Amino acid sequence: MALVKPDWIFLDLDNTLWDFEANAEEALGELFHRHHLHVRSSFKVHEFIATYKEINAAYWKRYERGEIDKDLLRTGRFTDTFIKMGLPQEEHPENVWQEYLDICPVMTRLVPWAMGFLEMLKPHCNIAIITNGFAKTQKLKIQHSGIEPFVNFMITSEEAGLAKPDPRIFHLALSKAQIPGSRALYIGDTLDTDVRGALEAQIPVIWLNHTGSPVPSDVASHACYVGGFSSLVEIGTFLNDSLEGV
Ligand SMILES: [Mg+2]
Repeated sequence: MALVKPDWIFLDLDNTLWDFEANAEEALGELFHRHHLHVRSSFKVHEFIATYKEINAAYWKRYERGEIDKDLLRTGRFTDTFIKMGLPQEEHPENVWQEYLDICPVMTRLVPWAMGFLEMLKPHCNIAIITNGFAKTQKLKIQHSGIEPFVNFMITSEEAGLAKPDPRIFHLALSKAQIPGSRALYIGDTLDTDVRGALEAQIPVIWLNHTGSPVPSDVASHACYVGGFSSLVEIGTFLNDSLEGV
């Protein structure tokens, strides 16, 4: 679709602005060495990180389906990782889950050109974040990485009691901004939650498609699908015309 100049740009946070992958890996690597897991198990740091990531993803799915609560999500992903590493229970580092929550969200690595992108957008439109995550964690991320001054408001799934792709969380953002969907633009990196959710809410969508995955036909043919780009720089170049044009 041709893009009308948006009054508001809604952005996903993790892996769209804040480099979740890199920051989480750095935090996990720090915990691995802090607790001497290279001595206490046969796992190398990359194996620990890969194991944790796989278990964490499964826990998040269970959490999003409402099968487990926040506390079990936060502790269980580490307990199960240690079990998989063959650590006897008495050797599981205590409160490592809390240490992770303390150090990961204050890491500051952003997706390439995220700050430049926000600086480019800000004179032209308002900016909001719609993120699946916990309020306290996501707030720490935007504060410590320096993107908070660019953001008019942020909606977290925890506070909304709704998670993407539920179109109601996008509708909530529209009503907070007091605009119809046609005056907004949504940008996010995950096909199923970001792209499909925003399309269902009838908001124009740009997919930050880091890996250049093929665009499914139901998405490509949707009236609100603007396009896919593999970096924020490319999105910035594309948006430049429509932002300056009005
Ligand atoms: Mg994301």
